[in-house]
Amino acid sequence: MRLVVVGAAGRMGRMLIRAIDQAQGSVLVAAVERPGSPEIGADAGVLAGLPARGVVVTEDAAAAFAAADGVLDFTAPAATVAFADLAARAGILHVVGTTGLEPVHLAQLAEAARRTPVIRSGNMSLGVNLLAALVRKVAATLGTDWDIEIVEMHHRMKVDAPSGTAVLLGEAAAEGRAVDLAERRVAGRDGITGAREAGTIGFASLRGGTVVGDHKVIFAGSGERLELAHVAEDRSLFAQGAVKAALWGRGRGAGLYSMADVLGLDAL
Ligand code: NAD
Repeated sequence: MRLVVVGAAGRMGRMLIRAIDQAQGSVLVAAVERPGSPEIGADAGVLAGLPARGVVVTEDAAAAFAAADGVLDFTAPAATVAFADLAARAGILHVVGTTGLEPVHLAQLAEAARRTPVIRSGNMSLGVNLLAALVRKVAATLGTDWDIEIVEMHHRMKVDAPSGTAVLLGEAAAEGRAVDLAERRVAGRDGITGAREAGTIGFASLRGGTVVGDHKVIFAGSGERLELAHVAEDRSLFAQGAVKAALWGRGRGAGLYSMADVLGLDAL
């Protein structure tokens, strides 16, 4: 499968180049960075700490997509919606790991997914997607007298909060309770907040150091507490998940797919 990495010089971009190299059945055909990036013209393999691959980092995404089967995109929301339109025009698969997407961005992705397959997940790891399935089940089992709080910690360079994974876990909890997360979400508390409102789903975000991604979902009842946690030790895990998603998505029809689809977790 011929793959393009956009945001190739980013933390995840470099990991994706390595993951494509290691996976069977995928080959890197282009690497794209934002116009003006100092990495334009660099060899993508060298950028990722590999031997030269003869693939030079370019800013011309349209040309790159024209000669590919899929694009792996861990960039930023505005870039991702632009890439979604380009991928749909080229008729290639779009794997989206970018987080911090607002409803307006999600609507644009949904529109692109009417024309081409789009696989999006706030977290591409098996462990987190399994955790989401467990959270859905526990939330469906316990009543609203059990408070749900989600705590996450990430490295100091992360720009959005709560993390895409925390939101994914919050959505799983809301689904389990058959409620809309947007109406129940309480992210960040400060000052005289008043008592906790029953049925809300709380988020707390910690930032510091080089933490790859820690998540804990706490179900707090009266006199007892249930905690489900996941620790990501290495971000190559997310890149491997993205390549796996691309290989799974090859030849599928237009539509919006999730990592739960890729991993076959929907039945849980
Ligand atoms: P980063 O800042 O290191 O990399 C982002 C890269 O995208 C940069 O190199 C930047 O120049 C590039 N970029 C931005 N706009 C562009 C454009 N218009 N065209 C081409 N390139 C462009 O960030 P990161 O740590 O690699 O994370 C990237 C995204 O992936 C974030 O949203 C992060 O939360 C998300 N993420 C998702 C998962 C997951 O499993 N879904 C895992 C880790 C990170």
